[in-house]
Amino acid sequence: MVIDCTDNFATRQMINRACVQHRVPLVSGAAIGFDAQVSVYDSRDGAWPCYACLFAPDAPPQEVQCATMGVFAPLVGIIGSMQAAEAIKLITGAGQSLAGRLLMLDVRTLQTSTIAMARDPHCQVCGAR
Ligand SMILES: [Zn+2]
Repeated sequence: MVIDCTDNFATRQMINRACVQHRVPLVSGAAIGFDAQVSVYDSRDGAWPCYACLFAPDAPPQEVQCATMGVFAPLVGIIGSMQAAEAIKLITGAGQSLAGRLLMLDVRTLQTSTIAMARDPHCQVCGAR
């Protein structure tokens, strides 16, 4: 598996493409300011979406990076631990991974929300497999 802790859209897209091509699970985490998100993009199972299903490669968001925008320091530790937990769950088969779901955390309130993610049949990365 790959655990992605990078801080820019282009690199995340390249990592996702490689993971889909080689059918390697991707544990993705991102944090900026007081907000973060974690998910698992598991291309071993064709039912789950890849990163590009949710974030189209040809529609990059306004790039915000920790280096310029800052990040609440403990948040990266929290998200890193969540990614480690997802990785161990994938290795051991324990519990239910975040595949197909995006967990978002607002560290100001420590409230989480989770949204279901669907695979995009027209995805530029995984749609043609
Ligand atoms: Zn996809």
